[in-house]
Amino acid sequence: MFDLTTRDIKYLSGVGPQRASVLNKELGIFSFHDLLYYFPYKYVDRSRIYRIREIDGAMPYIQLKGEILGFETAGEGRQRRLIAHFSDGTGIVDLIWFQGIKYLIGKYKVHQEYIVFGKPTVFNGRVNIAHPDIDPASELKLSAMGLQPYYNTTEKMKRSSLNSHAIEKMMKSLVGQLNEPLPETLSPALLAEHHLMPLTDALMNIHFPSGPDVLRKAEYRLKFEELFYVQLNILRYAKDRQRKYRGYVFEKVGDIFNGFYSRNLPFELTNAQKRVLKEIRRDLGAGRQMNRLLQGDVGSGKTLVALMSMLIALDNGYQACMMAPTEILANQHYETIRELLYGMDVRVELLTGSIKGKRREAILSGLLTGDVQILIGTHAVIEDTVNFASLGLVVIDEQHRFGVAQRAALADKGNSPHRLVMSATPIPRTLALIIYGDLDISIINQMPKGRLPVKTYAVTGKLRKRAYNFIKSEIDNGRQAYIVCPMIEDSDSDLQAVKSYADKLRIDDFADYEIGLLHGKMKAAEKNEIMSKFKDGKIDLLVCTTVVEVGVDVPNASIMLIENAERFGLSQLHQLRGRVGRGSQQSHCILLTDNTGEECIRRMKIMSKTSDGFKISEEDLKMRGPGDFFGQRQHGLPPLKIADIASDMEMMNLTKSIAEDIISKDPQLESREYRGLKLEIIRLFNKNGGFAF
Ligand code: ADP
Ligand code: MG
Repeated sequence: MFDLTTRDIKYLSGVGPQRASVLNKELGIFSFHDLLYYFPYKYVDRSRIYRIREIDGAMPYIQLKGEILGFETAGEGRQRRLIAHFSDGTGIVDLIWFQGIKYLIGKYKVHQEYIVFGKPTVFNGRVNIAHPDIDPASELKLSAMGLQPYYNTTEKMKRSSLNSHAIEKMMKSLVGQLNEPLPETLSPALLAEHHLMPLTDALMNIHFPSGPDVLRKAEYRLKFEELFYVQLNILRYAKDRQRKYRGYVFEKVGDIFNGFYSRNLPFELTNAQKRVLKEIRRDLGAGRQMNRLLQGDVGSGKTLVALMSMLIALDNGYQACMMAPTEILANQHYETIRELLYGMDVRVELLTGSIKGKRREAILSGLLTGDVQILIGTHAVIEDTVNFASLGLVVIDEQHRFGVAQRAALADKGNSPHRLVMSATPIPRTLALIIYGDLDISIINQMPKGRLPVKTYAVTGKLRKRAYNFIKSEIDNGRQAYIVCPMIEDSDSDLQAVKSYADKLRIDDFADYEIGLLHGKMKAAEKNEIMSKFKDGKIDLLVCTTVVEVGVDVPNASIMLIENAERFGLSQLHQLRGRVGRGSQQSHCILLTDNTGEECIRRMKIMSKTSDGFKISEEDLKMRGPGDFFGQRQHGLPPLKIADIASDMEMMNLTKSIAEDIISKDPQLESREYRGLKLEIIRLFNKNGGFAF
C-alpha cells in the first residue's frame, strides 16, 4: 500500500486538481491521510425504509423504496426544474431537481426500483424532496444502509459543488482502497488493555458505521488516540525543557525580600499565598528552570505573589521582568509595585509601546548595566532591542493568549530564566491540562481576609432608573462605580452607542457627578489618564467597555452595572465583576438584560448564585465549548478533530496518566518500544508551528 500521508489528494478518483485546490484552501486537506481524518459531524440513520403515507413534514430525513412513474418539467429560467413522480404504492412523492435536467432524464429509468433519500417538505398537500440521493435499489450495498455520514462544508466548497455528499463519495472511494490495514499508531499492549478498536477498523467505521455500537467504539478509539498524543507531546516537551534548561539556583532569601516582608507588606499574607510562595521558592532553588502556572480567582492576590517572587530573584543578584497583556495593566502593575516598594532601594521601570526616545534609551541601558532591577511592561519587553544583564525571572500575566510554543519563545529571552505564568481567569482543570500541560500548577484557593462576595442581581431594563439611584447612593457614600457596555471591537455603531450612553448620563441622570469614558479605541495615553483619575477618586462613575475586564484594581469601586449582560460569556462576566469587591465594603453587581431566553436566564442565575471562579468557568466551558470559551481564536489550544475538552474529561485524565507513565520511563521516547509513538508525534505536531522534537 502507498503512503497515505504523502499521497496528494488530487490523485484520489473524483477529485482532480480543481477540487484538490478547494480542499487545500478550505479544509487544509492535502493528502489522502488528511481526508481520512476529516470526520463526519453527524450521522443519519438510513437503516429504515419508510412508506410514503407515513411521511409528515417534521421528518428531517427520509428513505423510500419505489419506482418513478414519469417525468415532467416545469417553470422557466432559474425556476426551471425536473419533477419525477415517485411511488411505493402507498402514495406519490415529487422528486425535484433544478440542475442537470437532461442528464437526469437520461440516467434514471421509469419503472425501475430505486432507493431515494432526502429531506421531505410538504407543500400544498404534496410531498417534495429536492435534490434527493437516488440509487438503483439493486446497487445500493448493505453497508450504505446503516448510518450515513454528514461532513461540514464551507460556502466556497458548496459553490464548487463540494457538498457533504460529494465528500462522502470521495471518502467511499478512499476507504475502498484500504485493502491493507494502516500502520497501527498505538501499541498492542495499549490496544489490549483499553479494549481499543484497531486503527483501520476505527477509521472505516467512523465514516461508514454499520451501526451505533460500532460507531461508539470507533469514536472512543479515535478520541483516545487524539488526547493521548496531545498529552504525550506536552509532557515530553516539558521534560525536554527541564533537561535542557537547568535554571539558575536562587539559594537565598535575602535583605530585599526580608526587608519588604517586615516593613513594607501592608497586610498579612493569606495562607494560600504563603503556600504558593513556598512552592515557588522550592522551584527557584531546585537547579532546574521553574515553569509554573499561578491560578487564582480574581482578586485573590496574585500580583503580590509575583512581586515577592521577583524580590527573591533580586536577592540573588538577578533582574526580573513582568509582562502584562495590556498597557493599562502594565501601568497599574508598575504603580502598585512602586507603591509597595516605597522607601526601598529597588529600581523599577515601565516599558510599553508609548515609552519612546530618551526615556526608552535610558531604560534600555539601565537594563544592560543591571541598574534596572525590575522591568514591567507589555509585549514591548520581548522586542529584540530589549536586553538584560542577567534576567533571572519572567512573570507573564496573561489572558491565555499564548500557546505552549509562543510562551516558550518569551521565556527564551536571556538565559532561560525562571517562568511564572499567571492566568487572569481561573480555568477548569481539563483545559489547564491541555493548554498548560507543560507547567506545574499552583492554586491560590483563598481570598484575603474580610472580602465579602459581590452581591449580584439580574434585572431587566425596567429597573434601570432604580439601578442608577442605587449607584448614586453608593457614590454619595464616597464609593465609585463602573457601568460596562458591550462593544465588539471594530464596530463603529457599538462605539457610538458607548459614547452617547456616557453623554446621556452626563446631561441627564448623573449631571451632578464626574463621569469618565474608557474604551479600547482610545490612545494609550488617554486611557492611562482616565484610569489614574479614576484611581485617584477624581472620577465617580466610569462608563467603559471590556477594557477594564482584566486585572484593573481600584478597591474603592463598589458597584458595577453591566448593560446587555447577555452579550458576555460567564467567565467574562466573572472577570468584569471582579473589578468590584476588592475592598472591605460590601460590593454589588447589577446585570441588566432584557433577554428572557432560557439560556440567558440560566447564566444570570449562575452569576447571582456563584462567586467561585473555577465553578463558573467550568459551567462556561460546558455551555460554550472550548473554542468560544476565550472569546477569541488565539487560545493556544491544539486543534482537536474528534475529542471534546468539555465532555471527554474522563478520557483526558486516563490518557494523561498513561502518557505520564510512558514519559517517566522514557522521557524522549528513544527505546524501540516507543519508536512508533515518537514518529507519530513528529507527524502530528511538526507542521503548523507545532513543537515536536
Ligand atoms: P488578582 O489575583 O486578581 O491579580 P490582585 O493581585 O490585583 O488580584 O489583588 C487584589 C487586591 O487584593 C489588591 O488590592 C491587593 O492589594 C489586595 N491583596 C492582595 N493580597 C492581600 C492580602 N493577603 N490581604 C489583603 N489584601 C490583599
Ligand atoms: Mg491580576
